[in-house]
Amino acid sequence: MAEKIFYNEKGELIVPDNPIICFMEGDGIGPDIWNASKKVFDASIEKAYNGTKKIEWKEILAGEKAKAKTGSYLPEETIEAIKEHIVAIKGPLTTPIGGGIRSLNVTLRQRLDLFACVRPVRYFSGVPSPVKKPEKLNIVIFRENTEDVYSGIEWEAGTSEAKEVINFINDNFNKTILIESGIGIKPMSEFCTRRLMRVAIDYAIKNKRKSITIMHKGNIMKFTEGAFAKWALKEAEENFKDIIIKESELKEGANTEGKIIIKDRLADSMFQQILLRPDEYDVIVTPNLNGDYLSDAAAAQVGGLGMAPGANIGKYALFEATHGTAPKYAGLDKVNPASLILSGVMMFEFLSLNEAAQLIIKGIEKTIQEKYVTYDLARQMQDAKEVKCSEFAERIVQNMI
Ligand code: NAP
Repeated sequence: MAEKIFYNEKGELIVPDNPIICFMEGDGIGPDIWNASKKVFDASIEKAYNGTKKIEWKEILAGEKAKAKTGSYLPEETIEAIKEHIVAIKGPLTTPIGGGIRSLNVTLRQRLDLFACVRPVRYFSGVPSPVKKPEKLNIVIFRENTEDVYSGIEWEAGTSEAKEVINFINDNFNKTILIESGIGIKPMSEFCTRRLMRVAIDYAIKNKRKSITIMHKGNIMKFTEGAFAKWALKEAEENFKDIIIKESELKEGANTEGKIIIKDRLADSMFQQILLRPDEYDVIVTPNLNGDYLSDAAAAQVGGLGMAPGANIGKYALFEATHGTAPKYAGLDKVNPASLILSGVMMFEFLSLNEAAQLIIKGIEKTIQEKYVTYDLARQMQDAKEVKCSEFAERIVQNMI
């Protein structure tokens, strides 16, 4: 019988054998990639657990389908269903033009307080890449999701609000901001920084990761980015002191077995580090804007911008394809479903369904090595066989051995 996933009184996530998981298929190419991904998810669970486990998929509505059926792009029932069932996965959603919603994705993150955006970046052998040794990069980025210049506190140049803020700052703090400037606010708090660092350390422990790098621009923005670095380290030192070692205190030849090394890097230097010394980095914790840039740069480095998975995590967890709705390909059964499939792999790992997750990874690796790929990869590979979205997924299922 299908049952809900829940937290027990110790705060541990309990996943029944027939868990109910919510899904939003998404707009544009969403239905194509969702249908392909669902086949892979179901087959991996069936194969990994010999039929003793099965997911009960519960459709919840968002985007154009929701608007057509309920009159709202993001019905309240959708938010409530995620709160009730804790875990959901989604395809991409069109950002509605007008109607008061800036972005459905941002609204979902804010309403559910999904404070950590988690993006693993790794290489799949055979994927065309712009660098010589793409396999050396294997990182997981934890990007703060609720603060920074993304919090949407900004005023357009020339408006009375912008002028009022500028005059207030110039008059009270002896500053000289040009009166015709646009203004944005960059808030960062100890609370939000420390909760992000905590989930990153928990992840590193659970997944036996060797280091966590705090990436920031604190040499310039001392009281936001600099404070981020200080608070993140404080969380590690106060709550995980037996597990962590600061890189700056590491003695040569020291035994780091079972420990997590905490590194500190400035954001600009980090971009050259992941290119020049990618294997020195593992988990990376960073504010919102840095994380946005780094995720795409790192994904490009492994050639897999279209294969990059993502998750937004807080008390609830929402896994999602990181690309958009690619409307020109909608309904053509053409695009690459790997971003959503790999988001499902993250979801299975989150739910401790690691055997199913591993099977999917094996299936993807073998399918790409066979050069049996969708158009986006086929156009960059020699002698590849270009297949449809559904055929790619079917081959992954066959290769899950
Ligand atoms: P996009 O949908 O990501 O598409 C841009 C291009 O990326 C596509 O034309 C295609 O390139 C490639 N692409 C995207 N997904 C692919 C896939 N699965 N397989 C292969 N190639 C893929 O970006 P956009 O056109 O800027 O945005 C369209 C809509 O999506 C907008 O309404 C935007 O707001 C929304 N959006 C939603 C999300 C989300 O829900 N998370 C994220 C981003 C954007 P080629 O043309 O070169 O083949």
